[in-house]
Amino acid sequence: MMKQEHGITVAVYPGSFDPVTYGHLDIIHRAAKVFDKLIVAVLNNTSKNPLFTLEERMDLIRRVTKDLPNVEVDGFRDLMVNYMKHRNVRLIVRGLRAVSDFEYELQMASTNHKLNSDVETFFMTSKPQYSYLSSSIVKEIARFHGPVVDLVPPEVEEALQNKFPRA
Ligand code: ADP
Repeated sequence: MMKQEHGITVAVYPGSFDPVTYGHLDIIHRAAKVFDKLIVAVLNNTSKNPLFTLEERMDLIRRVTKDLPNVEVDGFRDLMVNYMKHRNVRLIVRGLRAVSDFEYELQMASTNHKLNSDVETFFMTSKPQYSYLSSSIVKEIARFHGPVVDLVPPEVEEALQNKFPRA
């Protein structure tokens, strides 16, 4: 295993997290057990037109991971490999839900490795009960005031209710 930062193994878990779901949180908990330190890196992707601002997304992840001392939350606007160089991290964690994730993830992992051959991507399969779960689905349900209690932590449920107030 590659060691960085004074001999500890650090990985970065990048994504939009708009907003963080129980599917993401499951990956975060499991990855935090495997790596000495996990940086959850929130991408400020303006082209995706996010519901939550970068600060709101980071704040929600901080609140739902406060019991995990080796998890850090950060934001980035840069190309992934540039951000990793800046943070001196070589390992990426990504979650795989279904075959439909595979093609895009393969393309990303291959591209990142081509841009910097030190960078390695590790995939963790999602728990079966979260394999259908995405931030987009959560937003669709919340927009129409449907129940999201089994999909996101209470802090996120409340933030969604504030974004989509009942008339
Ligand atoms: P992106 O816009 O980069 O795909 P997401 O926030 O949608 O960002 O996802 C970040 C990472 O979390 C990706 O690796 C994605 O496959 C994974 N992920 C998303 N939802 C789940 C889930 N329900 N279970 C496991 N992994 C998930």
